[in-house]
Amino acid sequence: VICEPNTRPAVDSVDMVHELAARAEAESPARIYFKAAMTLGRKGEQPTDVAALAAEPRVVALSDDGDPLVTCPVAAEVCRLAAQADIMLTPHCEDSPQALQQMQDGIDPGFVPGDPYTNETQYIARDIALAAQHGCRMHFSHVSLASSAGVITSARAGGARVSWEVTPHHLLLCRSDYAEGKVPKVCPPLRTAADRDAMQDMLVQGAVDAVGSDHAPHTAADKAAGASGLIGLETTLGLMLARFVLPGRLTNTAAVQLMSRGPANLFGLNAGTLREGSPADMVLIDPTAQWRVDPETFRSLSRNCPYAGWDLRGRAVATFVAGERVFCTQQHRGRETP
Ligand SMILES: [Zn+2]
Repeated sequence: VICEPNTRPAVDSVDMVHELAARAEAESPARIYFKAAMTLGRKGEQPTDVAALAAEPRVVALSDDGDPLVTCPVAAEVCRLAAQADIMLTPHCEDSPQALQQMQDGIDPGFVPGDPYTNETQYIARDIALAAQHGCRMHFSHVSLASSAGVITSARAGGARVSWEVTPHHLLLCRSDYAEGKVPKVCPPLRTAADRDAMQDMLVQGAVDAVGSDHAPHTAADKAAGASGLIGLETTLGLMLARFVLPGRLTNTAAVQLMSRGPANLFGLNAGTLREGSPADMVLIDPTAQWRVDPETFRSLSRNCPYAGWDLRGRAVATFVAGERVFCTQQHRGRETP
């Protein structure tokens, strides 16, 4: 798991990373890594201590997730520092209330802003240019617009060192699936059917580097108060298997690449392969398991899942970390450890 730094307070110092890592270690057998913030408090004003954060092994990238870096010179400085420290940036290239306020206050993002909640492509184009200028690696999370995908793929064709990921919800949902006012709230928002189809096409053509859940657990009270975000940890695998692998749109190998090997390579993790000498971190998958999504049965304490009632096929039945079985479903409990 790679945690985003959009907590309160933000993960913007090495001390904070150490504290969270110790808590994670005490509470979970899973391997937990962190993205640390690019700017102090994720305010978009002052870069964090990039060199110190990059030297921390649990920090695999920097991001101000939840907010884009509006001020162009600050974004440029972060790129310069990241290139020097050789750490990847994963900017959140999407409007947020803070960003819209900053633009209203006259901060120049280096492009002419569009309508609220449509600036993703512009941020991505600006950041690709900054990454090229300063020589840093950049990865774009939760890309949601066909135009953004176009900008990224043509930059890559020109040799840019950028990568990108899509989420299950931007691959499978669009805003016209819902009545006015009923669209699940997530950031970036659900887009048009044409955007959703473009994401699917890119995925099956092999143009996408990873599928990430963008798991954002919120309490019912937070969601009622307008919090953006959906949970995805317990549905991403089943959705990808049922909607892409089973119908023959992706091979098993491609799915492993998108959800395991690819992300591990991007973030420099010793994972995603069963090569001799690799840690025995494995997920045992039953590709025939049929199940209906019922958020009430989730292990997550959050229920903000848009797939309730969906019939899926394929499910993780056991998980191993360093060869130890740390999870298995009821039906598989008690069987011999392979
Ligand atoms: Zn984000």
